[in-house]
Amino acid sequence: MKGFIVSLRPAKNEDLIVTLLEEQALRSYYRFYGARHSILQLGYLIDYESEEESRFMPRLRRVSHLGFSWLYRRNRLMLWQQFIGLFEPHLRDAQTLDPFYFNLLLDAARRWEKQNPKRIICEAAHRLLDFEGRLHPPQSCYICEKPLGEEVALMTALLPAHPQCIYGPALSRKKLESYFETGKTAWLEESEVDYLYRLVLKGL
Ligand SMILES: [Zn+2]
Repeated sequence: MKGFIVSLRPAKNEDLIVTLLEEQALRSYYRFYGARHSILQLGYLIDYESEEESRFMPRLRRVSHLGFSWLYRRNRLMLWQQFIGLFEPHLRDAQTLDPFYFNLLLDAARRWEKQNPKRIICEAAHRLLDFEGRLHPPQSCYICEKPLGEEVALMTALLPAHPQCIYGPALSRKKLESYFETGKTAWLEESEVDYLYRLVLKGL
């Protein structure tokens, strides 16, 4: 099986509880500490077998790490870990998962080397909100429900509002519309991408 490590928690005696985003589920495994075991890090894509135990969580066995070249670039890895850290809180309560989430991460990981990771994060967030039916194009304010002007501020989950309703910095509505319509960030300046990226990191 394959899965992305979306959370790593210490257990007793240096053992680990590893939460993996698999194609069909978000599932936690127990990993016994062992000097011969490969080191696991948040964000890794791994191939593994699971050993089911009746009373406890399944164990992780025969782990191999499916590497991406950017894992050795510190800044890219840091951005990846920030991004992937969003998925465990977001999907924690789901019983089963649509393969959409696994494929979204796989697609992002493959583009991470060549493209700007902050833009990939903004585009992935758009795809996720669209898939979940939570995309609100910038037409009316989420707080007061009145029409928006030329300047729009965004809240968590990219909900649009009047800058004065949330006391937040604003972006041009025209540019935001192009992002909401196409899911692409090509029309956005670096500072605007940074604004969206920081917002996405607050939660999906
Ligand atoms: Zn408002």
